[in-house]
Amino acid sequence: MTGEGEQHASEYPANGADWTEEHWQMFLEELIEEGIISWREVTATTLGNLNPSQVGTSIASKKSFQRHFPPRKCWEAVRTWHFMQNGKCADCGTRVDLQADHVIPKEFVGDVGLSVQKEIPDLVRQDCARIVAEIKARLVGLLNRHNYTGVQAQLLDNISGDLYNALTSGSIRTQKDLEDVADRLDNMILRCRRHNVIRRPSHANGGLTFLTAEAGLMWLLFVHRPSNYRCFHNLCREYGLTMANIRFEEAWAMARWLQQIGLYEIEPGSKYSHAPTISSLDRIA
Ligand SMILES: [Zn+2]
Repeated sequence: MTGEGEQHASEYPANGADWTEEHWQMFLEELIEEGIISWREVTATTLGNLNPSQVGTSIASKKSFQRHFPPRKCWEAVRTWHFMQNGKCADCGTRVDLQADHVIPKEFVGDVGLSVQKEIPDLVRQDCARIVAEIKARLVGLLNRHNYTGVQAQLLDNISGDLYNALTSGSIRTQKDLEDVADRLDNMILRCRRHNVIRRPSHANGGLTFLTAEAGLMWLLFVHRPSNYRCFHNLCREYGLTMANIRFEEAWAMARWLQQIGLYEIEPGSKYSHAPTISSLDRIA
């Protein structure tokens, strides 16, 4: 995959998924030897990312969770739930960058709620057990279509019952009200930031990458060392990054910063090879 303008370090497999622990160690040692980062910074960053996520804010302070508990008892329940977890991402097992994530996504609960609301008239006068079963069947269908496996039957029953109660309560005004039905403690699980993103239906391409998008950008820059911007842009696209070009241009700043101190080579003909002078910035302003 090494192309023109690319100075790929040949001792590394081109695909990051093929890297061994030795490759990662060697790569980090090179960055440190070059003076780009220090052991202290690497360790401090790692420690920060090991710190458990702020479930006090992301869960316990939300009304949608609080309503399942007596007043001022929500944090106690969230804390107990948090302590009972194994402290690893449910998908990849890492301890780094964990976040509380929904087992059954809010979007699925919202979509099923809307479809039932639209397609079944006179909901309150229908047989309760039949409607709950219908809600459950629609949730299962949606989960299967998106390859969500291993969802407990008890959780499906709980969410289906809650959704039925919400739909027949007369207090549902927005799609968000329906999505909030997913906010139950037994519907929460810990996932790393990357797997949290991949799981969200709106990020269908997140799964193409084995690093978070920002880590992927720096991995491409430091491993492949593209000497022109166009090459960096193409590498990012080949790699499966689907974000706007502005993310690539932001990341390219690292190449420019390192070029200033002789640690990175950029071809004179490359796009963004020269900074505008102060006077041309004045003219833009
Ligand atoms: Zn993960």
